[in-house]
Formats: sequence, structure tokens, C-alpha cells
Amino acid sequence: MSRWSRGRIVLVGDAGYAVSLGTGQAISVAMVGACVLAGELATHKDDLFGGIAAYEEGLRAYVTRNQDIALAQDAKPDEPTVEGEIAFTRGIPDFGALTLPFALKNYEELVRRP
Ligand SMILES: Cc1cc2nc3c(=O)[nH]c(=O)nc-3n(C[C@H](O)[C@H](O)[C@H](O)COP(=O)(O)OP(=O)(O)OC[C@H]3O[C@@H](n4cnc5c(N)ncnc54)[C@H](O)[C@@H]3O)c2cc1C
Repeated sequence: MSRWSRGRIVLVGDAGYAVSLGTGQAISVAMVGACVLAGELATHKDDLFGGIAAYEEGLRAYVTRNQDIALAQDAKPDEPTVEGEIAFTRGIPDFGALTLPFALKNYEELVRRP
């Protein structure tokens, strides 16, 4: 989605930017998103919309890179062969090789600044 918020409503994790099973990074992305949103709201103090904007700006490139990896993996599952079983056409991706780092700001220190 082009936006993850409208007014005071903000989407985090799968609700806003679910990445494919092909990345193995969906929980990381959701947790980083939650940390960045909490951190930006805390550091922007009384500026709610500034905090929301900083969350979207700070996270967008990381989410996009993860979504690009998912597309590149092209790990589209076949139709389930038996109930609950899904086979991958090109094998299970090497999740460990796909891990993308995200440098979190030191929000605790930023919050303490006057
Ligand atoms: C089969 C499967 C395998 C996966 N494997 C991996 C993996 O190996 N590695 C990985 O990183 N990710 C994996 N994922 C993805 C990962 O589980 C999700 O990306 C992650 O859980 C997203 O977290 P979230 O907090 O955004 O959403 P969720 O974990 O879906 O949390 C949303 C919560 O909101 C609750 N909720 C919904 N509607 C309402 C409502 N109206 N009121 C109150 N509560 C509500 C739900 O009950 C749920 O508890 C997998 C997902 C699936 C389905």
C-alpha cells in the first residue's frame, strides 16, 4: 500500500505490509515496524502526525526491500497435494541468506533529550 495510515489509524505488521512466505522475515518486519512506530511516537512527543510520518518514512525502504526479495524468490506454492501440505516448485528458499539488517535508532536516548 502507498500509505500505512489515515488520520490516527496506523497499520503495523501483516495488516500493513505482509511479506511473502518466501522471505521467512515476516515476523522480523512486523516487530521492527512495531518498534519504529513506538519509538517515533515517543520521540515526537506531542506531534502525533509527525511521529506517524517518521514511522512510514523510516520503514518504507526496509519493507520494500523485503517485498522485492519475496518477488525475486518466486517461491509460489503449488496447489496443496494433501490437506495442509504445500509443496514449493523451486524448493524452500534459503531463509538465512535473506536476512536484512535494520539499524534501529536509540529511541530511549532520543526520548530523554529535551
Ligand atoms: C503458516 C505460516 C507460517 C509462517 N512462517 C513464518 C516464518 O517462518 N517466519 C516468519 O518470519 N514469519 C512467518 N509467518 C508470518 C508471521 O506469522 C506473520 O508475519 C506475523 O505473525 C505477523 O504479525 P502481526 O502481529 O502483524 O499479525 P498477527 O500475528 O496475525 O497478529 C494479529 C492479531 O490480531 C488479532 N485480531 C484480528 N482481528 C482482531 C480484532 N478485530 N480485534 C482484536 N484482535 C484481532 C489476531 O487474533 C492476532 O492475534 C508465517 C505465517 C503463517 C500463516
